[in-house]
Amino acid sequence: MLADYAVRTENSRGRRFPEPPHRYRSDFQRDRDRVIHSRAFRRLEAKTQVFSRRYSDHFRNRLTHTIEVSQISRTIAAQLRLNTDLVEALALVHDIGHPPFGHAGEKALDAAMREHGFSFDHNLHALRIVEDFELRYAAFRGLNLTFEVREGIIKHSRDYHPDEHPELGEYLLDQRPPLEAQLIDLTDEIGYDTADLDDGYEAHLLAVDQISNFVPHFEHGFRDAQRRYPSAPEKLLFNEALKQVFDRLVSDLIENTRQRVDAAGVRSLEDVRRCPERLASFSPAVEEERKQIKAFLFDNLYFSPALEGEKDDAERIIGELFAHWMEEPDDLPHSYREKSGHEPLPRVICDYIAGMTDPFISQQYEKYCCP
Ligand code: MG
Repeated sequence: MLADYAVRTENSRGRRFPEPPHRYRSDFQRDRDRVIHSRAFRRLEAKTQVFSRRYSDHFRNRLTHTIEVSQISRTIAAQLRLNTDLVEALALVHDIGHPPFGHAGEKALDAAMREHGFSFDHNLHALRIVEDFELRYAAFRGLNLTFEVREGIIKHSRDYHPDEHPELGEYLLDQRPPLEAQLIDLTDEIGYDTADLDDGYEAHLLAVDQISNFVPHFEHGFRDAQRRYPSAPEKLLFNEALKQVFDRLVSDLIENTRQRVDAAGVRSLEDVRRCPERLASFSPAVEEERKQIKAFLFDNLYFSPALEGEKDDAERIIGELFAHWMEEPDDLPHSYREKSGHEPLPRVICDYIAGMTDPFISQQYEKYCCP
């Protein structure tokens, strides 16, 4: 039973190219499946989230992170009686526009574009992937996803101003996205905050004492686990503590969002859209804790000297390859050379690089920049 304010599949604004309904899959289920069967989705497997394969082959990559976000999002959406098929499609597509080498790669690609008066934004890039780059169907370019999934790709993590992005006019930029899309940015953060604590600990870059000093609920959970399992190894006590942090974030997001929906008197999807602010959020106390965890990860993990080398690699590889193709566009593959006939060359190079996996871009770097 969907809530009154959930997106109803039968009320979808539909696809750009109308298609007959499927015999037994709903439109949002089909969108989810189209994302899973796309090339860009498969490439997430070889893109860095935070740690490259150099550290361990059981740390998160963009694909396993995406699957975790999908799991968390479905759990929360079900509790709020939202459309879990739409939420699943949005979660699975949320990182599809990310370039190789994690956050450092995104920064380096944006910096290279800015030298030519452009910029790189992974949400806008994701929209280009699903609208244009994926070629799977004879009838149209792209995946022909429903309006609600395309809108969610654009609006899940930030608001774009209509004056700055007239090309996004169709996505109702003056309105809030449905709760299904509002959730994704927050579940993304629950996913990576807890996963990065976990992988950071396993990489021996974060210690229990250090986390305990900054994250009170972790400390509380750890002490509690020590009392209950006095002879358990530290890693399992760590897991118990992290589980408590995780559960607190998820439960608070469910509870607080439910309360805010009630308090705002929201009765329909239209009410969600017309609400002056986003309704999915943590309570003020847990929002503070979330910020604390994030600040802790920035100070102790993301900018730690141990990861510095990989950041430098990302900047060097992306910067030099970009410059190489600007100088020698004939070294681009045929399809990209063709595209540069009707699109600015920096944009064409950016699209090419953004789609690459970590190993593929490293090969290209060897080939063109290491004579
Ligand atoms: Mg993500």
